[in-house]
Amino acid sequence: MKGLGVSPGIGIGKAFVIEKKSLDIKKIYVNDAEKEIDRLRNAVELGRSQLNELYAKTLKEVGEKEAQIFKSHEMMLEDDTFISEIESKIRNEKVNAEYSVKEVSNHYIKMFNNIEDEYLRERSEDIKDVTVRVIKILLGIRTADYSKLNKDSILVAEDLTPSDTAQLEKGKIAAMITEMGGKTSHAAIIARIMGIPTVVGLDDITQKIKSNDVVICDGKTGKVLINPNQKQLAYYTQKKTRLEEISNELRKQVGLPTITKDGFKVTLAANIGTPHDVDMILENDAEGIGLFRSEFIFMNRECQPSEDEQFEEYKEVLQKMGDKPVIIRTLDIGGDKNVPYFDIPKEMNPFLGYRAIRLCLGNVDVFRTQLRAILRASVYGNLKIMFPMISTMKELRDSKKVLEKAKEELNNKGIPFNNDIEVGIMIEIPSAAIISDLLAKEVDFFSIGTNDLIQYTLAVDRLNSKLSHLYSQYHPAMLRLIKGIIDNAHKAGIWVGMCGEAAGDPKLIPIFLGMGLDEFSMNSPSILSSRYIIRNLNKDEMEKIAESTLNMETAVEVEGYLSCLFADESESYLKRCKTRSRN
Ligand code: PEP
Ligand code: MG
Repeated sequence: MKGLGVSPGIGIGKAFVIEKKSLDIKKIYVNDAEKEIDRLRNAVELGRSQLNELYAKTLKEVGEKEAQIFKSHEMMLEDDTFISEIESKIRNEKVNAEYSVKEVSNHYIKMFNNIEDEYLRERSEDIKDVTVRVIKILLGIRTADYSKLNKDSILVAEDLTPSDTAQLEKGKIAAMITEMGGKTSHAAIIARIMGIPTVVGLDDITQKIKSNDVVICDGKTGKVLINPNQKQLAYYTQKKTRLEEISNELRKQVGLPTITKDGFKVTLAANIGTPHDVDMILENDAEGIGLFRSEFIFMNRECQPSEDEQFEEYKEVLQKMGDKPVIIRTLDIGGDKNVPYFDIPKEMNPFLGYRAIRLCLGNVDVFRTQLRAILRASVYGNLKIMFPMISTMKELRDSKKVLEKAKEELNNKGIPFNNDIEVGIMIEIPSAAIISDLLAKEVDFFSIGTNDLIQYTLAVDRLNSKLSHLYSQYHPAMLRLIKGIIDNAHKAGIWVGMCGEAAGDPKLIPIFLGMGLDEFSMNSPSILSSRYIIRNLNKDEMEKIAESTLNMETAVEVEGYLSCLFADESESYLKRCKTRSRN
């Protein structure tokens, strides 16, 4: 079976299948209301015991504060008023239990949403959570329990949200396989950051694989084997060992400067989602953080992190990074990154919708709070701010005004911050790329976000596995656009980096180097191999090669040409590494 390999590496282990069904709640009239009430009581009882187990486990493994949430959910299911209201609805209207749970909880959610007090208002999220748990039990839908995963598990699911993936722990899972998703879906990006081999786009895989089947997953080729024979098992076990050998060889790149043979120096930075990722990027010798996707600290929680909480997270990253540059990108919620408490209305085209800077400029309080937290952290290291999804000059100017306001607020309170903090923008929307000559005059740097730039330029949804053949970083339109952005930045005297996934593509690194890109920011597992590549190239020669790709006609032609020049077959790579280390 073959899907789309989105995070390289070989995973061999036992399947852990998550069946995902939608919560389709219909109103059904029932004859026997008492029987329905019994169903409800059993579901509530089971919900309580699940919550009790979660409380005990979290208390033991994480801590009292984190465990408390499950206690409060359990208490909600012990609330007589809430439960008897649901029972009365079943009895009086003779309707099914799941519908009654939904209706009664919706009433409470609305009531809490209208309360002035912020703390009480946020309790509506708890009601939603508890309600979903009970409804799932009533509908017979199992809730995924990631704690049952062990390091030899292969996670198989219809789809994984970025917040699902962020809950996984590095080293606790062998591979992931999903039906949906594209190469630059955020779940795939997190998988690459964590170094988890992943294959997406395999139709009905949750039906084809059963829990406990032995599965091999090749995250590079996209191959998935269910219950393989001895020969296949031996072949992939050996391949896995070879990859580990390559990764050990590459450790020799640690501490070396990222400089071409003819002396052109670039910055090799890393992308992170949370402060937890910093240890791994330092292990891989990142020279800075080119993209801190700050929205991940807003996920998997009940309400927005306060200014102080955000400050602590940013400060932790800066302190760990010492004097290395750290670019914090302001909140980029929306698209495939949903955060329930922001209540983003359902949209027909979320990636073209109310996301990132648009959402921040529409919620200036949220935006200013984040900017204050970032500014306060700026005294602890070399911090830069970056705005995502800029599509017009007005958005950039409005964002800078909000930043000025945040600075003024801190000044009024006498709180220190770096007043000369560098401000940059992501170039990830074609309109911004086209007016990059103008935008460059008003910022300190650009970072090219190829993940979105490709989807918007080529009109291909980055999540849609059916369109993955059209979503290509090798499209000549992309290369021309990127060349134009780099030239415009340099003409205005600013530096330009890239933090989209293309920055870590071994075939494109030589091309971007030839175009004059100053900074490459990628997932940490790619850093050392990228340094190896750059140190073995001549910038001069790459300029000519980059120039010739600009005249090519198709993505296939570009990719074919680059594959011939810069093939990174692991075997020959290992040989080259070994030869070099002998010399
Ligand atoms: C991008 O679009 O290239 C990018 C880096 O941002 P994100 O993947 O978070 O949308
Ligand atoms: Mg983006």
